[in-house]
This record gives sequence, C-alpha cells and structure tokens, in this order.
Amino acid sequence: MRGKDVRLEGVAITYPNGFTAVQPTDLTIEAGEFFSILGPSGCGKTTILRAVSGFVDPSAGQILIGGEDMRGKGPNARPTALIFQNLALFPLMPVWENVAFGLEARGMSRRARREKALELLDLVALPEQADKKPGELSGGQRQRVAIARALAVEPAVLLLDEPLSALDLKLRQHMRAELRAIQRKTGVTFIYITHDQGEALTMSDRVAVMNNGVIEQVGSADAIYSAPQSAFVASFVGEVNPFHGRIIGTDGAMAQIETPHGRLVARNPTALANGATAILFVRPEQVGFGAGYSNRFEARLMRRDLEGAFVTFEVQTPTGAQINLHQSNTGGASVAVDDICQVGFDGEAAVLLPDGPMAKTGAEVAAQ
Ligand code: ADP
Ligand code: MG
Repeated sequence: MRGKDVRLEGVAITYPNGFTAVQPTDLTIEAGEFFSILGPSGCGKTTILRAVSGFVDPSAGQILIGGEDMRGKGPNARPTALIFQNLALFPLMPVWENVAFGLEARGMSRRARREKALELLDLVALPEQADKKPGELSGGQRQRVAIARALAVEPAVLLLDEPLSALDLKLRQHMRAELRAIQRKTGVTFIYITHDQGEALTMSDRVAVMNNGVIEQVGSADAIYSAPQSAFVASFVGEVNPFHGRIIGTDGAMAQIETPHGRLVARNPTALANGATAILFVRPEQVGFGAGYSNRFEARLMRRDLEGAFVTFEVQTPTGAQINLHQSNTGGASVAVDDICQVGFDGEAAVLLPDGPMAKTGAEVAAQ
C-alpha cells in the first residue's frame, strides 16, 4: 500500500441551511503522513473529512488527491476509506469475512479473500482471531478489525473520525501506539480527527489546530505546544497562564507588556507593535518558586495538589492574578498553603500573542 498527498485549495464548505462550517482553507497533507486535525466539538473537523471522502461537495475551491482533482467523484471513486467512532461490524460473520467484506464486489474468490483478510489481521496484530465472531473480541480488537476492513480495499488515504473515543482510557492509550505502527507499516496517508490533544500530539507527524471553521496553525506537536501562534492554540493545547495587557515596548525578539499585575517581558513572535492589546502566555511548568526570574511576583500559596510524578501549585498575587505551577515531584519546593512566596518565569519561556478568543476551560465545557 502506498499513500497519496491530499491538497485543499481554497476549500470552503457551506451547508444547505446557509451555515459555513469551513472557511476558505489551504492545506497540504503529505503522502504517507500521519496528520491530525485537532479542535473542539463543532469546529468543522468532520465536515472536512466528509469533503475529502466525497460525501459533501465543497462550496468553493478544490480537493486534489495524488494531484488528481476530486470534483464530481463520489466516495466509491476516491482512493479513500473512512473509519467512524461507531464502527459497524457484522455480528454473525466471522472476523475474517468482516475484513474481506469489500472485496467480494471486486470479484475476488473466497480463497483469495480469506488470504487477504489473514494478511491484514496479521498487520493489525490479530493473527489468531480470524474465525471468531466480533462479539468474542474486546473493544480494542474490534476497532482493529474495522481498521483491517478499511485497509482491505487498499486506500491511499485513510480517514479516521475520532475512532477511539468510545474506548476506555487505558485502551485508547494502547491503541495510539497500535495505530501509529499500522500507519508506519502500510505507508498509507492517515488523516486523524480528534478533540483529544493527547492523541493528536502523541501520534502525529503534524497537527492542524482548528477553531470555528478555521485552521489556525499547522505544525509538529512540539511547535504547536512551544510556539503557538494564536491565543486559541496557546489555550486549547496544554495548560497555560494568561496575562492580558498592552504592549509598551519592543526589543528585537522580545517585548514588554503592561498588565494589571505589573510589567512583564516575553517573546514576541508575531511582532506585536507598541500599543497593541495582547496576551502573555506561560506554561505552568515554566513557572517556578524563587526570585531569580525576569518576571517576578510575590504571591500566596492557595493550593498544593500531588498528582504523582508532579505537583501542581496555585498561587495568588496581591492584585488577584491566579498562577498555576507544575513542579516535578522530586522533593524540591517546600511551601505550605497560606505561605507567602516568590514565583516567576523567564521572558524566553513565555510568549506574547495578539488578543483573541481563548479556548473554553474544562469548567466552561462541563457547564455547556
Ligand atoms: P466537528 O466534527 O468538529 O465536531 P462538524 O464538522 O460535525 O464539527 O460540524 C461543524 C459545524 O457544522 C457545527 O456547527 C455543526 O452543527 C454544523 N453542521 C454539521 N453538519 C451540518 C449539516 N448537515 N447542516 C448544517 N449544519 C451542519
Ligand atoms: Mg466530528
């Protein structure tokens, strides 16, 4: 099997009710890449997959797979296969027949179909399960059967729409490694959709972060986490401490921001100019106790939570800023709740970004 590249050129998608779910988008997914689209529920991820697989037509722009324009080609005429969250296996058919289901229409003999199915079951690490019924398998095994079935028709591009979200946490984490291994072995282009940042960051060659029908950033997991380019990306991926304010001075790659909690300095990757409203973002693991930082606060320790390998602290400054810290649990900081302490972070460890909408917090999502 061999992957093909997927290109979206100015693709916008408006549903018949007039709602534009995907704003004009340019995106190239390389052949053989494991590419994830990450974003909150309702941001347009499934709509993009539907367009790539041919179930929905773009209202503008074009989609090319392996350089070929897909306009006018239905799902069966495209080199794609789709896997959903709620996979539907046939309960009365043995596993191998489920895998070989799409091959009968191609005129393959029963013997050739079984051979192909066994090969694919081997690939997804289920060699002994061919003659069982789906009901005799675990959830993770059934998911692998669905993947084998999708691969049976030899797609160049496999589209996966939140395929692990019905599985429990342990299994989901195990399946991440399985999916990655299957993708590497086959060389098929994977486009993987998820609202789970852990999945996107651990499995992917590159990640696109999407919000409100717009892809805000495309990059490696490291780049998305350490060098976010928008307030949404900074706040959706990982935890972050935001400080709102106005730029009051720039100096090469760095800038100063005036906030209600004092003047702070940070990297200025988007070249914000004097006077711009901005947000400074710093990750909790970049904040530490002590006075040796270019950005410093006096604060009171409000909470200390042991998470196992690391400890989270919540402190509050006299101006009311709440700051979270993550420290590895190696017996370092000995502060107790209600202690007054110094906390801070280096300017190089923080980033200034244009003021803009931030991702909802866990509490806000829960209250929806
Ligand atoms: P995601 O997969 O990121 O959760 P979707 O692509 O399913 O998001 O949906 C994006 C937006 O488009 C949502 O606001 C959704 O309500 C809307 N939408 C999805 N399908 C339709 C449809 N058939 N008609 C109108 N609006 C739709
Ligand atoms: Mg969806």
